[in-house]
Amino acid sequence: MARNIASYRRVVGEESISQLHRLASQLQGRTVVHVNSTRYGGGVAEILEWLISLMNDLGLQAYWEVMEGTPPFFQATKKIHNGLQGFRVDFTASDIQAYDAAAEENASRLRDKLSGADFVFIHDPQPAALLGSCPGRRGKWIWRCHIDASRPYRPVWRWLEPIVSKYDASVFSMPQFARALPHPQFVIAPSIDPLSDKNRSLPESEVEGVIRRFHLDPGRPILTQISRFDRFKDPVGVIQAFRMLRVNPRPQLALAGGGAADDPEGAAVLEEVRARAEDDPDVHILDLPPDSHRTINALQRASHVIIQKSTREGFGLTVTEGMWKSKPVIGGDAGGIRLQVHDFHTGFLVNSPEGAALRIRYLLQHPRLCTRMGASAHAFVRDNFLLTRHVREYLTLMLSLERGVTDRVDLP
Ligand code: UDP
Repeated sequence: MARNIASYRRVVGEESISQLHRLASQLQGRTVVHVNSTRYGGGVAEILEWLISLMNDLGLQAYWEVMEGTPPFFQATKKIHNGLQGFRVDFTASDIQAYDAAAEENASRLRDKLSGADFVFIHDPQPAALLGSCPGRRGKWIWRCHIDASRPYRPVWRWLEPIVSKYDASVFSMPQFARALPHPQFVIAPSIDPLSDKNRSLPESEVEGVIRRFHLDPGRPILTQISRFDRFKDPVGVIQAFRMLRVNPRPQLALAGGGAADDPEGAAVLEEVRARAEDDPDVHILDLPPDSHRTINALQRASHVIIQKSTREGFGLTVTEGMWKSKPVIGGDAGGIRLQVHDFHTGFLVNSPEGAALRIRYLLQHPRLCTRMGASAHAFVRDNFLLTRHVREYLTLMLSLERGVTDRVDLP
């Protein structure tokens, strides 16, 4: 879906839009290539979907390329991902071989485009080695790390560090994630598109239709966690919390998510979750296709409380999406969720299934507080986590690298 920056004026106001035009006027015609490892599934793909479109609308020439790889490559990159999030992984010489081979194959396909670009944004570790395979590069290369790599498994970081050190800059979602690297580091939090199918307002009938389609009872509270079936999202912990809930009327739990093309563990985790649910008629496990944006939107709107009980989380766009829909969020006390969920204000941070159950019960028993927290959550997203702020920070970063200044960017 092509985006037009002017259409966001009514959401964010004139000042934000004109600021973007002023910044973009200094970058007209620059070529920008973003590379990640999946077109569907996960927050990075969600962001690139609109970012490319808006950059083009602002007069840059933006492209989105996706790493292609074999199953051994994606198994290796999943280990790297887990290792960066602090998990002990068995990262072997054959993983490195699969990783290097994919970098070389993708570079031979993308080399001209990447080498000639003014700016290349490499998202996460999967495509990071492309830089080494484009020796004649012209532009600035930026490593955009979306993961909480603040306490990595050392062998994985020791291997990755020299690869990402060659970049001109890196971007992290929170200051706490920054690593000791020999180049400028920027902190840019992710954001959502308020007008996308995932987040736009929906007719009540559509929300009701989704409740019916998934056999949810509109007369009882709905609790929802949307996420890929990934262990760090702790879907099993969500089921444990749900089991501990003693509250009337009995709520229903929707665990909804699909896979991502670059995530080989999803199917196994989904099986584990199904086994834990033990045919409980109030636990609805919904395996959704990748284009289920309106369905997810409707589920979030139908929910009384949104859960994102991750034990590691780079940011957690699902938290932002829930908050935008004026829902309080029960979030795992981890990574970027801490940027968004503030106790008694926009939701509650929890550290265990017991804690989650307690807070969910508290919210369900205090509907007025729920409404008030939902309103604060919506306002917090409006002020901090919408795409216009995100684009502004990317444009500023590009100008600062182009001009070789890191403290301030002056506009004529
Ligand atoms: N998502 C989706 N379908 C799914 C599961 C997730 O569209 O089956 C979306 C979700 O709405 C959010 C993004 O994928 O926009 C997940 O981003 P998040 O930052 O929460 O987690 P990540 O998957 O990147 O770790």
